Amino acid sequence: MSETNRSFKRVVLKLSGEALREVGSQDNISPEIVGRIALEIKEAHEAGVEIAIVVGGGNFWRGASASARGMDRATADYVGMMATVMNALAVQSALEAEGVPCIVQSAIEMKNVAEPFIRRKASRHLSEGTVVVFAAGTGSPFFSTDTTSALRASEMGACAILKATMVDGVYSADPKKDPEATRFDSISFQRCLTDQLAVMDSTAFSLCMDNNIPIIVFDLNEHGNIAKVIKGAPIGTVVSNEG
Ligand code: UDP
Repeated sequence: MSETNRSFKRVVLKLSGEALREVGSQDNISPEIVGRIALEIKEAHEAGVEIAIVVGGGNFWRGASASARGMDRATADYVGMMATVMNALAVQSALEAEGVPCIVQSAIEMKNVAEPFIRRKASRHLSEGTVVVFAAGTGSPFFSTDTTSALRASEMGACAILKATMVDGVYSADPKKDPEATRFDSISFQRCLTDQLAVMDSTAFSLCMDNNIPIIVFDLNEHGNIAKVIKGAPIGTVVSNEG
């Protein structure tokens, strides 16, 4: 990866549900943390980048875990999608409090709280400088919000998916288990597959690879990183067809 800045016109920021929770707290959403994330998004928004956000729901619920404990999988996944709507509303509220225009579009109709997902409308909002938060995942069970970000990035013609994680990039092995693990500045989709480096689930990963959408994996815990990565600072690991 070059050390020069990247330049993005439109991006999809993927925030896992856990990103909104204070570690060790009983509250699923920390308004303080969401407020800090909003401030960073505001900074990047002021720089003129068109920002779409996909939020997960793992701070409340994951369909696969509930299904492993006996619940019907599809129903459990719908519960998970509802959880993402709660997170999306929290993000919208924090952004609006900072004066950033923001619309939530939900893949499951919930007209009292969010617009329904309409691709062309979402794209227009983004062009007009409104941040769009995509809620309720794809609207279908058996998918993830990583897949949602790959799908929405493809539909919106985004330059990249910025995936906020608990680690600062993609490593050759799990850095917690292997002291020899090295971090990549950039890596190809193909090498990730060959070396079995999990960046996203396989559906999300294939969509990005097939539609030529780079994924930038970066550390959410480093304050300022969200603003930096959206504004194109060379942080994290870029996963792309070029490698
Ligand atoms: N989900 C789903 N379809 C989608 C997106 C999400 O069924 O298109 C459900 C699924 O149960 C998932 C939950 O919503 O476990 C929360 O999403 P995810 O696990 O991706 O959240 P994250 O891990 O990013 O917080």
